[in-house]
Amino acid sequence: MVEVAYHYLPKIEVSTSIFDQRYLYDLAIRYGTPFFLIDDAVLHLKIIELKNGFIDFSGDVRIAFSMKANFNPAVIKAFISKNLLFDVTSIGELFFYLKCGGIPENVIYTSVTETREEFCEVLEKGVGHIVVGSFNGLLNLIDVALQKNASPRVMIRVNPEVGVKAEVRASYRHGKFGVPLNGPTTDSATSLLRKIHNSGLVFDGFHFHLGSQIENPICFINALEKLEVFVLKMRKEFPDLHVKIVDIGGGTPVSYGSPVPSPEEIGAIVTKKLNTMIQNIGDQFTLIVESGRYLSAEACMLVSKIVNSKVYGGQKFIFVDAGFHLLLDAALLRQEYPQEVVPCTENSENLKINLAGRLCDTYDVFPLSPTSKLSGAEPGKLLIFRNVGAYSIVFNMPFHCQTKPPIVLRKDNGEFVLVRKGETIEELFEEEGGNISTEV
Ligand SMILES: *Cc1c(COP(=O)(O)O)cnc(C)c1O
Repeated sequence: MVEVAYHYLPKIEVSTSIFDQRYLYDLAIRYGTPFFLIDDAVLHLKIIELKNGFIDFSGDVRIAFSMKANFNPAVIKAFISKNLLFDVTSIGELFFYLKCGGIPENVIYTSVTETREEFCEVLEKGVGHIVVGSFNGLLNLIDVALQKNASPRVMIRVNPEVGVKAEVRASYRHGKFGVPLNGPTTDSATSLLRKIHNSGLVFDGFHFHLGSQIENPICFINALEKLEVFVLKMRKEFPDLHVKIVDIGGGTPVSYGSPVPSPEEIGAIVTKKLNTMIQNIGDQFTLIVESGRYLSAEACMLVSKIVNSKVYGGQKFIFVDAGFHLLLDAALLRQEYPQEVVPCTENSENLKINLAGRLCDTYDVFPLSPTSKLSGAEPGKLLIFRNVGAYSIVFNMPFHCQTKPPIVLRKDNGEFVLVRKGETIEELFEEEGGNISTEV
């Protein structure tokens, strides 16, 4: 596969929300630290930015929110109100989405497990799009659809097996997601397409997901080129094969301090290829762009308090009352969330600062971002972690008997509302079975 050098301009301004520092202290007094703070206005802004990236696409464009990045009901409701599609991966996520008032028609159900029980529920609820990624999963779906006399719309999840430059890759060869276009077993797009053709299912198109935090959009071009060749080849076998949807998955990157290409830059490149694909295959398909990270990361910050400090080995350690139990990717992926001391003041000591969490665990030290501002850090001050809206709240864990922190939402009109109350230690004790008697 060709590697094309791709140059992009650094983002000058990160469009994270700006909060009056006094508000942060007020909220910290009212709700205690740590707490998450979500900005509704940024959620809305991100949809527009992402959609604008594909403005030159010659067909319809739909944006889908990947619920796995953030399942907070306030966030789900914000995206439902903007009529987004939802990338849903489990019956639990489907429950949350429907409870928040979402309509089943707007769900793209992409499961890894693809069980009959799951498809039963999905068909009963009337989910709009189902994505299949294995032959066994397809058989399960056909079976359940027959039983229920339903003809669901399906897409095939393909693994285009392209090289991806990204933090998390999802489409490498022999990976767990989707099926290869061609292959020797029934687990290939060729064989799934044949099976769908003589079943009661309605074929809608193709889906792929290449990875998260994709730094170079060339992988999309390579994937689409392979898909186009595949469609033209399958046309020979099925002259009435029509592609109604192409879902290019997620991966739009967020700047955590280092420059990344914007949706505008990525969209321009990908749109050009999509438009030629429409001409070459002769189908005016709808484009679906999924995103978890881009839509939700920048809208949320974690507000913590500096609770301790020490100087050791010529370095300064700053301890906050947060930890990787709230920001798992800081430990798992060494994710650099831009941190900032509030208020950030001049520092006379010229010591290297290590930012440590409150857990008794070696890995609970936060990697710093190139844009972290830690001067003036001292116990009693607040310290915020920016861009934590994706893949953080969903990983909450009670390691060290830590309770779930509250979540505050700043609404479009500037009003602050508590959208999740903080868990109490008594509640955690009970949840862990502390009140179940073990006496005989
Ligand atoms: C995780 C995932 C996404 C979202 O990825 P982001 O990097 O958050 O944009 C989209 N589609 C599928 C199928 C996924 O698994």
